[in-house]
Amino acid sequence: MDSIIRQLKKSDHILIATHTHPDGDAIGSLIALGLSLKALNKNITLYNESPIPAVYRFLPEVHLVVNKIGKTNYDTAVILDCGDLNRIGEAVSIVSRIPVIVNIDHHVTNTHFGHFQLIDTSACATSEIVYRLIKQMAVPLNKAIATAIYTGVLADTGSFRFSNTNRAAFAICQEMVELGVHPHDISQHVYGTYSLGRIKLLNRALDSIEISANGKLSIMILTKDMFVETHTQPEDVDGLINYAKRIEDVRVAALIQEHYNGTEQPRNSNKFHVSLRSDGSVDVAAIASLFGGGGHSSAAGFNIESTLSDIKIKIFSLADKI
Ligand code: AMP
Ligand code: MN
Ligand code: MN
Repeated sequence: MDSIIRQLKKSDHILIATHTHPDGDAIGSLIALGLSLKALNKNITLYNESPIPAVYRFLPEVHLVVNKIGKTNYDTAVILDCGDLNRIGEAVSIVSRIPVIVNIDHHVTNTHFGHFQLIDTSACATSEIVYRLIKQMAVPLNKAIATAIYTGVLADTGSFRFSNTNRAAFAICQEMVELGVHPHDISQHVYGTYSLGRIKLLNRALDSIEISANGKLSIMILTKDMFVETHTQPEDVDGLINYAKRIEDVRVAALIQEHYNGTEQPRNSNKFHVSLRSDGSVDVAAIASLFGGGGHSSAAGFNIESTLSDIKIKIFSLADKI
């Protein structure tokens, strides 16, 4: 950590980036580190390729996050919450030319890319690691930074329910509450405000669930047509897979989601994202790795180009081994 702090302190312009289709941890850690480096008088650029999901637009200074970057003379790039550099999306070609890349993450499948790594797979969220880094840099925490960190931890632990929930999750969040964060306000933003379209999408998602013959695997499907018909975006999918995971006896839930960029596209692109969740008895990061993806032992994902029926067959064939 000390060598990373030395590198950040001697940098003038720092790019901070997180993964496409960001979750609360990706955005929370991005804003928390950005505001902390700003407090150290650094020039910062916060980057995420995808739109910020509506539920996270309440975060302080969220307008600082840009979705395009040029070939500016950055000294250092900090990549947060990405198991592999490609997770940042198109900007990988620009970022890989930045002289120093710092990789801060908590995924078990992290490829150790970059010149410096701060990887802790026991951290509940990248926001936990960023919290420790901020403390070590002696940047005073304020309510804005605290809100971002709290949101990151809350989102990645599924409100302190998932298996990554650790002692630090509670200790950090307690400290953030002491700094003025209101848990109810944040959960209202993150969980309490569903658009009507999102409720309709939930209905479609629930209706699509199928179970393997042995009952141990469930599949949920979301197609481009469903997004178009319910006027929703991929960000509205966040959390839906948990319904498929909750089903009695199910060990692994898979959500097959057709790629959709928010505007109607020609049919049959054959591009899908598969999210996997387990009840803790199956390592889904290992399964995702077989398909070129990654993640955590109980939450992982991968991208695949194939037909929906082929993907379903491939996934159902996993059921006998779990
Ligand atoms: P998701 O499938 O988007 O719900 O993500 C579940 C977990 O798997 C998250 O921690 C992601 O960062 C990780 N993940 C998802 N897709 C990929 C991928 N293509 N490569 C590596 N990790 C992934
Ligand atoms: Mn993430
Ligand atoms: Mn994370």
